[in-house]
Amino acid sequence: MKIGILGAMDEEINLLGKQMTNCTLEERGKREYINGQLFGHDVCLVFSRWGKVAASSTATTLIERYGVDQLIFTGVAGGVDPSLNIGDIVIADTLIQHDMDVSFLPQMKEFEIPLLGRADFPVGKKEVQKAVAAAESWLQDNLREEVAPETLEEFGIDMPKVVCGTIASGDQFISSDEKVQYLREKIPNLRCVEMEGAAVAQVAYEYDIPCLVLRTVSDKANDDAVIDFPRFITSVASCFTCGSVLRLLERWE
Ligand code: SAH
Repeated sequence: MKIGILGAMDEEINLLGKQMTNCTLEERGKREYINGQLFGHDVCLVFSRWGKVAASSTATTLIERYGVDQLIFTGVAGGVDPSLNIGDIVIADTLIQHDMDVSFLPQMKEFEIPLLGRADFPVGKKEVQKAVAAAESWLQDNLREEVAPETLEEFGIDMPKVVCGTIASGDQFISSDEKVQYLREKIPNLRCVEMEGAAVAQVAYEYDIPCLVLRTVSDKANDDAVIDFPRFITSVASCFTCGSVLRLLERWE
């Protein structure tokens, strides 16, 4: 078994990389692939960059070149479910590409991937449960140790929650109430939007391997995204996802 970990934040890759042992580094297609071990598991870690093409080409390289047979994708996302707050963690149980639309063709549904006969990429129940438990345990045991109270206060974070649900991906940063409204009407149980998860899920589906997507809510995908993004990534989000992934691998069978 070998796990491919893709992150959309360089900072989080650095944090995870520091925990790896026996590392070797290889550059390929403008990515840096770090092979090594984490909690005794063979792992290949890489900064995917942003967007569906970047993420799917990286996922394919992980599978084809580095022989991974499971994928984990982490990053930040815009929370569109009104019950979500900045700092909450979302685990995808289904992923959809919200910018795919060939519904002008007969019998094609909106968001359906041409020739694949499906729009959604479900994640196995057991994997989702493992990821939820890992994120919850990190929040419970490590949040207050690893993130300073004044940083949590700065971003209005008290006790973040972990939820699962649908994540929608597309090649655009969403920052409009109107678009959020539209997507919420079209996609049931939509929790958050981002730019990579469903692309990686499609690659995993086509190669018939499991794929987990974990996201920390960084904004509300609306007009008033007032947070200091770079600071949030460095001091909050990268710790959240890195911590959750470490917990997950600690318990991985
Ligand atoms: N880290 C950058 C901002 C990244 S924006 C910075 O320091 O300025 C693009 C990344 O954020 C992508 O990985 C995307 O998946 C995610 N993301 C976060 N909020 C999003 C939103 N509202 N819409 C789309 N993608 C979002």
